[in-house]
Amino acid sequence: RCNAVCRHLGLSVLKGSLIFVADLMRAIPSNVVIDLMEVSSYGGGNTESSGTVRILKDLSGTIEGRDVLIVEDIIDTGLTLNYLMGYLGGKSPRSIRIVTLLNKPARRLVDLKVDWTGFEIPDKFVVGYGLDFNDQYRNWPDIAVLKPELYA
Ligand code: 5GP
Repeated sequence: RCNAVCRHLGLSVLKGSLIFVADLMRAIPSNVVIDLMEVSSYGGGNTESSGTVRILKDLSGTIEGRDVLIVEDIIDTGLTLNYLMGYLGGKSPRSIRIVTLLNKPARRLVDLKVDWTGFEIPDKFVVGYGLDFNDQYRNWPDIAVLKPELYA
């Protein structure tokens, strides 16, 4: 349980994890504070991670001394999370753990310890339930494979 200052912090990596974090936080019975970051690793309309991560929205509060749970939508090459782990690790959190809804291990380029995975999926580009293509399809209630002819 939390004292006056809650030590547990759920960090949603926007925009893809928007719906997942909304469902997940309501399933956590103890007190937890939520912060939001927005990062971008894909170019506009692209389905390949560029490996260059840009922080579009930084943390609002401190994570020093806190147990941080990074909430991701999907881990593909792992480059985005690898960058984030380095960035957040430099801010003296007590611990950092990772939960991802989806995991595509086939395309991993860096070694990452993922603490909780919802589903392992094959190397297909998926949309819906927060996941986009070119900022579209996030509001679809289900997760679906995007037809390659729509982006090839
Ligand atoms: P990574 O850096 O691990 O290659 O990519 C992580 C980010 O790429 C995810 O947070 C997500 O925004 C995006 N991404 C990776 N695979 C997919 C996918 O199949 N569908 C969508 N919509 N985004 C993906």
